Amino acid sequence: MTDQREAVIQVKGLKKNFGSLEVLKGVDMKVLKGEAVVVIGPSGSGKSTLLRCLNLLETPTGGDILFHGQSILRKDLKLDEYREKFGMVFQLFNLFENLSVLDNVTIGLRKVKKIPKEQAEKKAMELLKQVGLESKADVYPSKLSGGQKQRVAIAGVMAMHPKCIVMDEPTAMLDPHGRKSVIEMAKKLNKEEGITVILITHYMEEVIEADRIFVMDDGKLVMEGTPKEVFSKVEKLKELRLDVPQATLVAHELQQRGIPLPDGILNNEELVDELCRLKSKM
Ligand code: ADP
Ligand code: MG
Repeated sequence: MTDQREAVIQVKGLKKNFGSLEVLKGVDMKVLKGEAVVVIGPSGSGKSTLLRCLNLLETPTGGDILFHGQSILRKDLKLDEYREKFGMVFQLFNLFENLSVLDNVTIGLRKVKKIPKEQAEKKAMELLKQVGLESKADVYPSKLSGGQKQRVAIAGVMAMHPKCIVMDEPTAMLDPHGRKSVIEMAKKLNKEEGITVILITHYMEEVIEADRIFVMDDGKLVMEGTPKEVFSKVEKLKELRLDVPQATLVAHELQQRGIPLPDGILNNEELVDELCRLKSKM
C-alpha cells in the first residue's frame, strides 16, 4: 500500500563533491509528513553530508531537494525562513557556554523571530518544563550532564516551531540514561506534535524504533524500508559491516541451524515469542 501522506522532503539525484572527492553520488529519498526516519551506514558513507545538504549547511553539487514540493535550491529562497522550519541538533552540544539555559532557549526566538524578551522567556520556560529542565533555567551549560545539554538544545530548536527536526548522532556523546532521555524527547515531539524527525544514529535500540530506515554506503542509498524489512537482510548488512540488533543476530544463527524462525526479529521479546510459538507446536 502506498502512503498518501505528503512528502516533507524529497531528495532527487543529490550529488555533493568536495573538490575531486565524490561524497554523495546521486541520492534519492522521500520523507513523509510526521514520519520518524533513521539514517544508518558506515562511517564516511555521507550521512552527515546528506543531512547538512538538507539544511543547506552544504551546497549540493547536483540534483535537487524539495521541501513541501518546492526546490530549496532556487535562487530566491529565503534561507533564514527555511532554516526556521528546519531544526538541527548535532552530536556536539551546540549551546552557548556563556549563556544560561534559559537564554540558550530564547536566543533564537529573540534574535531570529524578534519576539520580546518576556514573551520569549515564557515560551522557553514552557519548553524547559516539557524537557524536564525547568529547575535548570538559570544554570550555565557547564553545570549540566550531556543528556541535559542535548535536551536544552532540543528545546531551543522546538522554540522555533520547526516542521522537521534533523539530528546528527545527538546521543553519541551520552551515557545510556542520557541517550534514553533524548530519544524519549524526540519521540514525544514526533508523536504528539507531528514533527517529522530525521535521525542519524548507530545505536540499534534507536534504529529499531524508526518508522523507516535508510541505509547509506559509499555515497549512495543502498537499502530502505521498515526496521523489519531492513533487518530481514542480515547477510547484506553484515557485508556493509553494519551493526544488527543482538536478537536479530541470534535469530539468524538459529535459522541457519535449521530452526524455522521468521526473518526480521528485532528484539528479545519477539524472539522469545517466536520460540514459544515453536515450542507449542512440538
Ligand atoms: P558520515 O557522516 O557518514 O560518517 P560524512 O558525510 O561526514 O560521513 O563524510 C563523508 C565523506 O566526506 C568523508 O570521506 C569525509 O571525509 C568527507 N567530507 C565531509 N565533509 C567534508 C568537507 N567539508 N571537506 C572535505 N571532505 C569532507
Ligand atoms: Mg557523520
